Amino acid sequence: MASNEDLFKKIISHAKEYGFVFPSSEIYDGLSAVYDYGPFGVELKNNIKEYWWKSMTQFHENIVGLDSAIFMHPMVWKASGHVDAFSDPMIDNKDSKKRYRADVLIEDHIQKTEDKISKEVEKARVRFGATFDEKMYRETNPRVKDYQSKIDAIKHRFYPALDRNDLADVRLLIEELGIVCPVSGTKNWTEVRQFNLMFSTQMGSVNEDASSIYLRPETAQGIFVNFLNVQKSARMKIPFGIAQIGKAFRNEIVARQFLFRMREFEQMEMQYFVKPGEELQWYEFWKTERMKWHLSLGIPASKYRFHDHDKLAHYANAAADIEFDFPIGFKEIEGIHSRTDFDLNAHQTHSGRKLQYFDTEANESFVPYVVETSIGLDRTFLAILSHAYREEKLDDGSERVVLSIPAFLAPIKLAILPLIKKDGLPEKAREIMEVMKYETRCYYEEKDTIGRRYRRMDAIGTPYCITIDHQTLTDNTVTLRDRDSMKQERINVSEIPGVVKKKIAK
Ligand code: ATP
Repeated sequence: MASNEDLFKKIISHAKEYGFVFPSSEIYDGLSAVYDYGPFGVELKNNIKEYWWKSMTQFHENIVGLDSAIFMHPMVWKASGHVDAFSDPMIDNKDSKKRYRADVLIEDHIQKTEDKISKEVEKARVRFGATFDEKMYRETNPRVKDYQSKIDAIKHRFYPALDRNDLADVRLLIEELGIVCPVSGTKNWTEVRQFNLMFSTQMGSVNEDASSIYLRPETAQGIFVNFLNVQKSARMKIPFGIAQIGKAFRNEIVARQFLFRMREFEQMEMQYFVKPGEELQWYEFWKTERMKWHLSLGIPASKYRFHDHDKLAHYANAAADIEFDFPIGFKEIEGIHSRTDFDLNAHQTHSGRKLQYFDTEANESFVPYVVETSIGLDRTFLAILSHAYREEKLDDGSERVVLSIPAFLAPIKLAILPLIKKDGLPEKAREIMEVMKYETRCYYEEKDTIGRRYRRMDAIGTPYCITIDHQTLTDNTVTLRDRDSMKQERINVSEIPGVVKKKIAK
């Protein structure tokens, strides 16, 4: 069994070799934390987007879509708090010259201690069997209590220090906890500094009238500033949602985790506008709903967990992450935030325009509260890819790499393969291709032995292959091969559209 780090490396090289993800500008040695999606990657990405979009807009009558521009008025980012507060505390190790997020170093330290507690609890569960009372154990076991009080003490000091922007104390805490650089193994740290993550550029042709604008660091603000346009034009009644998929840009400090942390990435966000006072009930609703969506991707529940935030952002009154068990560990894939009326209020103040909802029944206006679901498209892609990747030893002693991507998301649904390149088999296969390419995403291939072609289709995650052989010419049947079981069945050519449609349906 490969270690997780090995597995991650294998997935990255598989993604490149089979046309899923390439490093950006590779011929110039790449651009750090920027990636391009190749022929099969773009298909998978589009399928994920389409599924999310449908789940949000088509399956919820009260959610509509939006596609706002990446460039926005600079005041948007002043009002939202991003100009003043969208920054991460960074720290460098003087020996390795590596840069880290100071908050992540401390959070990783807390996580390690929490892992120690979990280990103790699991050991005790085995020891005590059916009579085990976890709550009581956590409250009374001296070792667990000691770990927990250490965690509490760190949180008690760390979060207020961040709130006060007391970076010297954050630095001191790193030192006192004995946190070392994972690369050099030393504690030779620099001071902690705040680093704003927004990219800026110039708009306008002449220097004097050019003004500085930002590349949006989240898609949400495009939704807030269009709140009334959407509500009025689509005649929406509260509660209602606005969904948007689009690029976001962040000049991330630590950016060496493939698609997990990119400087240009894509978000799928939905802002749900509700009556003040009802937000926490909708927050719970969306937590449940979004977890269901993740599980509907065919990934088991054990790969996901919720992480409720102890430290809330300045705009939130409740927040949780859905975390996924990536090869680099459990990490955030989606955030669910109760954002109160912070954003709409801030835009009212800064723009001088009213952003209120008029409730015709109560005959009153108010600023709605907002519950947001914000999922990273690239992180979802990485979750699906890493869960799908499998190396298998076959009965005949050979090996294969297979991507068991759920059929409805797979880049190619059906491969059409003549057994050999003669005897009229390619012509017959082409006839089938001409019909099937209008039904679903197909791939025609006649080069190489059939075994090799199957392996290649396994490696890009094609769930079904149809093979046209000599028998096809006599009785009009083909074999239909299943990627995961590798079993083959014979079906009539006339049955192909119906059978395939049923198999790839969500
Ligand atoms: P993190 O704590 O990992 O930096 P975040 O809390 O800043 O993430 P949000 O602002 O809540 O992230 O953004 C919503 C979602 O956008 C995240 O759950 C994640 O899936 C995605 N996302 C955020 N930053 C990146 C990035 N640099 N690369 C890829 N996806 C990202």
